[in-house]
Amino acid sequence: MELPKFRYHPDPIATGAIERSGILCECCGRKSGFRYALSVYSAEEVSDVCPWCIQDGSAAKKFEAIFCDDYPLIEAGLPEELVQEVSQRTPGFESWQQEVWLSHCGDACAFIGDATKEDVLALAEGVGRVEDQNLWKPEDFRKLAEYYEPKGSPALYKFKCLHCGEILYGIDMC
Ligand SMILES: [Zn+2]
Ligand SMILES: [Zn+2]
Repeated sequence: MELPKFRYHPDPIATGAIERSGILCECCGRKSGFRYALSVYSAEEVSDVCPWCIQDGSAAKKFEAIFCDDYPLIEAGLPEELVQEVSQRTPGFESWQQEVWLSHCGDACAFIGDATKEDVLALAEGVGRVEDQNLWKPEDFRKLAEYYEPKGSPALYKFKCLHCGEILYGIDMC
């Protein structure tokens, strides 16, 4: 069975947001072979939903759930419909504090995954941009590359603009 496509999260298996599992989805009651691996933000506790119920919005509707914080997208001035697609119908990502879904060119960016060590080295060379550029200088990334581990602290989350292709990183620390 082929996974549903998520415009803003093109490879959720690679990022770890979706994993293979034999669970029954709490939303549709079916066994799809996959489950959402991260926390579902909802009033009642929901631990097992399948990617199909995320994609068609049924899990968001049934559990009044979201999969990432919608506030940064609202703050970025994105249209309501788009904010809902990202927060309610797209697998989220794991961050230390509150996850910030980046946007560019008037649209939400696609989440690529945790930055690799190569990505950090590229940042040191001026390739890519972090959301709070002022706080980070190229030499900081050179130092960071010496001890950086994906999903460590600081964590760098890689996004790509779906329009101009710009690579953007969000930074979070534990
Ligand atoms: Zn389901
Ligand atoms: Zn762009």
